[in-house]
Amino acid sequence: MSERYYLTCIGCGSKYDPNNIIYKCYRCGDLLSVEYSGEVMKAEIASKWNLRDFTVWRYAELLPVSDKSKIVSLGEGGTSLNKCVRLGCEASLKNIYVKNEGENPTGSFKDRGMTVGVTKALELGMKRVACASTGNTSASLAAYAARAGLECMVLIPSGKVAFGKLIQAIVHGAKVIQVKGNFDEALKIVEEICATQPVYLLNSINPYRLEGQKTIAFEIWDQLHHNVPDKVIVPVGNAGNISAIWKGFKELYAAGLTEKLPEMIGIQAEGAAPIATFIRERLEKIRFVEKPETVATAIRIGSPVNWKKAVRAIEESNGLAETVSDEEILSAQRLLAQREGIFVEPAGAAAVAGLIKLADMKLIDRDEVVVCILTGHGLKDPDIILKQFSKPVEIEADIGALIKMLSLNP
Ligand SMILES: *Cc1c(COP(=O)(O)O)cnc(C)c1O
Ligand SMILES: [Zn+2]
Repeated sequence: MSERYYLTCIGCGSKYDPNNIIYKCYRCGDLLSVEYSGEVMKAEIASKWNLRDFTVWRYAELLPVSDKSKIVSLGEGGTSLNKCVRLGCEASLKNIYVKNEGENPTGSFKDRGMTVGVTKALELGMKRVACASTGNTSASLAAYAARAGLECMVLIPSGKVAFGKLIQAIVHGAKVIQVKGNFDEALKIVEEICATQPVYLLNSINPYRLEGQKTIAFEIWDQLHHNVPDKVIVPVGNAGNISAIWKGFKELYAAGLTEKLPEMIGIQAEGAAPIATFIRERLEKIRFVEKPETVATAIRIGSPVNWKKAVRAIEESNGLAETVSDEEILSAQRLLAQREGIFVEPAGAAAVAGLIKLADMKLIDRDEVVVCILTGHGLKDPDIILKQFSKPVEIEADIGALIKMLSLNP
């Protein structure tokens, strides 16, 4: 067994060799997590971080890769953290930041996970990779598989994937298969294939992917000059990302690099909110949503595979979960574009929609430092914009026409 890290079950605590091709605990079927030995969790791990580029691999000491010469990377991570004064004013808040994950190579945070997950596929000797996807996972996996020279298969729900994302999977040469069903159904099939065939599964049930995504926490800490925010707001679909980010902050804490932890706030769309409902209504048992619906297709998920990890993240951190309507999501998308110059896809805007709602409910203090994770780029889903705005005016190509038009619309 590798000395530095191993896999452990979040349910029964069983430990597994990290070189097993395994996605769930053999004993109890629960989710797996990558853990690092006590030797690793020391403040010295950060001593080299400042000397490296600002990418996911800056934090190599806390990433589960044994042979660094085989890393499959497109320079992912190192996204900007923007202070939003105009947006903050709107919500009467003074310290609002947004982390723009749309700046990643394929336009979403999924790239952070895929650089680690696809590197792991190579390490494990796999030749084929697969995922089910609402769009961004397939776009990202297709790109990283191309870079690694691996065969890639992606299953997407028919007609429910944003145009830009579909194009990405196609251009990178993945075998794209449309499933007549929703994401949850597509995932079920691909999980079964990967359990019986030599195909490596790269959905967020894969614990290595989440290791890459936890670097969002490390970067926020770096960008806030080694401070941790009061609250981090994350859109939640399959719930891997909020779990990963929380894990990242906890590791900084365990290594003695921070004495504080943020509250994790999960935002779901009203029509796809099993986790928010579970937490808010203090249910005994989670109720999955059979037919999830929302304009934010990236979080249109009814049975989130990582729900247990996410509920833990929210509860351990004293955080909360909230829902937002499609209207609130689209309004936040326009606000970000028109007040801050940042264009995100609807799911990416869900965090800001949540921020505004929580500020209205007085659940965020004026001085608190809040970071919203903008999960994906706006160009992924152009149709949703065309539906909301009217077509630009058209004039004859002469100055008279322009002057006339301007005087009519002063
Ligand atoms: C994948 C994705 C999400 C949801 O992340 P989970 O880890 O599934 O909760 C949110 N927004 C965008 C843009 C995504 O691509
Ligand atoms: Zn177990």
